[in-house]
Amino acid sequence: MIQAIKHYAVIGNPISHSRSPFIHQAFASQCGIDLVYEPLLAPVDAFAKYAQDFFDKGGLGLNVTVPFKEDAYQLARHHLSERAQLAAAVNTLWIDKSGVIHGCNSDGLGLVNDLIRLGFDPKDQRVLMVGAGGAARGCLLPLLEAGCTELRIINRTAERAQRLVSDLTQLRPQYSTQLSAGSLTEHEGAWDIVINATSASLSSQAPAVEGLAFNARSLAYDMVYGTQATTFMQQSAAHGASHQADGLGMLVGQAAISFQIWHGVLPETTPVLNKLRKILKAN
Ligand code: NDP
Repeated sequence: MIQAIKHYAVIGNPISHSRSPFIHQAFASQCGIDLVYEPLLAPVDAFAKYAQDFFDKGGLGLNVTVPFKEDAYQLARHHLSERAQLAAAVNTLWIDKSGVIHGCNSDGLGLVNDLIRLGFDPKDQRVLMVGAGGAARGCLLPLLEAGCTELRIINRTAERAQRLVSDLTQLRPQYSTQLSAGSLTEHEGAWDIVINATSASLSSQAPAVEGLAFNARSLAYDMVYGTQATTFMQQSAAHGASHQADGLGMLVGQAAISFQIWHGVLPETTPVLNKLRKILKAN
């Protein structure tokens, strides 16, 4: 039985590259909380067993990464937050005193908090989301709740973007006027915030978004992060985006929301983000 010290972990496959143990240990020392947070490798076909074993042995919370966010959604399907329901994916699991496993998705709020940290509060802004995969889906409701005036989703496969819009408007019809969807070429007008939620940057590409127009003060945000500006960030700068950022702040931001769910305190992200950026640059 794990009992003496509070145990948390990030579960995925692969997992050795994960920055979550560093981030959560840094938050814990900042907040004076004693905990162990470890990487947990699970076979691709055995998520539920590994997650259940972790909780059976006394573990209190799990972060969930690729490829298990939908499995985690299934595991916690009877006890999901609204954000997790809409995202259809879970990245934060915890067990309550009666042994019930709950699930939430902290990616979207992590993104919104990072935009605010960068000086781009989505409130009253025109926001363009490029990409319609799991990460984009998880961010829609938090962006709308943050008060953007327009949220347009464009995707290589336009039907996938349209499905996101119809799923969300079914759940929250009050947002139907702000939401729209289209193909990668359908992005009329100038944008305040453009978010690249495609995985194109992972292969050093940018989505084929021709003729994108930015307002004078505008942000191009890539969910992918690395040691250098992504192709999307570079192209956006050339097209007039006054600011560019990568997704390292979102990574730290979503971890902060998970930490708050588990420990009831929202840690400060900036010092941890600065340390992580230094580590990335040094490697
Ligand atoms: P998915 O596989 O669910 O979705 C991938 C998306 O990228 C789809 O919209 C797909 O379009 C699009 N896409 C892929 N390649 C291209 C391309 N060459 N040109 C145009 N569109 C392309 O991935 P996720 O949504 O889970 O993740 C998206 C990205 O966000 C990943 O790179 C991930 O690393 C990052 N991420 C970062 C986080 C952070 O904390 N910083 C958190 C979560 C994700 P189509 O539908 O047409 O196939």
